[in-house]
Amino acid sequence: MKIIDIHTHVGDTLFGRPLLPYEPYEPYTEIPGWTTPYEQSEFDISKIEKMMTPELLKYYEGMLAMGERGLRILEAIQNHERNNAATVGNLLRAMKKNGVDYSVLMPIEPYRLTEANIEVCKKHKNILTFASVHPKDPEKIEKLRRYMKLGCRGLKIHPVIQGVHPSDPSVLELMEEYQKYNLPVLFHTGESTYYVTQSEERRAYARLQNYEEVVSSFPKINFIFGHMGQMERETALELGEKFKNVCVDTTLQPVEGVRDAIKRLGPDRVLYASDYPFSVQEVHIRIINKVAGDDNRLKEKLFYKNAERLIGKVG
Ligand SMILES: [Zn+2]
Repeated sequence: MKIIDIHTHVGDTLFGRPLLPYEPYEPYTEIPGWTTPYEQSEFDISKIEKMMTPELLKYYEGMLAMGERGLRILEAIQNHERNNAATVGNLLRAMKKNGVDYSVLMPIEPYRLTEANIEVCKKHKNILTFASVHPKDPEKIEKLRRYMKLGCRGLKIHPVIQGVHPSDPSVLELMEEYQKYNLPVLFHTGESTYYVTQSEERRAYARLQNYEEVVSSFPKINFIFGHMGQMERETALELGEKFKNVCVDTTLQPVEGVRDAIKRLGPDRVLYASDYPFSVQEVHIRIINKVAGDDNRLKEKLFYKNAERLIGKVG
């Protein structure tokens, strides 16, 4: 069955530096212990403890002794390690190993530039990309037009990394222009920490209530809520029930979360994705297979048909 991973990254999306010329985590998905206990438990928090080695437990306990702050730092460090593994070579290897036919890249300007991703797509026919512009970039409209002309299949906005409220006037202005393309916006949703020094304010941009204004103001644009709101899945799905232009991707959600999304939004608005390298493709494929069982029509929707309805035919 065709598989499209609608949410992946290559390059340094956090700092915009070139990644090291060698590939430190090669072949990254095969290193035992590289996946976190959270991934090994398939994002089921009640099972995390079973996945812990004594060394890991000790490490985590040390960080947890710092309270909430320790958890945030741990999250930032893990994101940095993953970010460093985001080479094109690693992504291609992961795709081959997991039977993923197409990956869709998400640039995040001003760090990972759209044009760098477009160059990757020229070399690899199984890689597509969305566009990204910084909503507060004075040249955002010109840049957006240029990128869309070059074949981008959607637009990515990351409120935390880009440091912008999802319903900021600059975002609404960008949507005014973007709606004519009839392609989706993939929003990062849910609070997360990428930098050790990241402010509370920046983290809070990704709270789900902040998306309501933009989603309701542009009913013709399909919005994909990346990570389904993470810990705020309930609010993400409530917004999905209220607004038919909301879809969700399955990254960082357990079996139960994906089931819940299908039950509440229907089978057409849920999309398989991994957020590679911030998570791994195999875990998310396993989760989809568990949810769909032998329902092949549902599987087709989750793995590629829903994605193709939004971004057009692939391959
Ligand atoms: Zn992402």
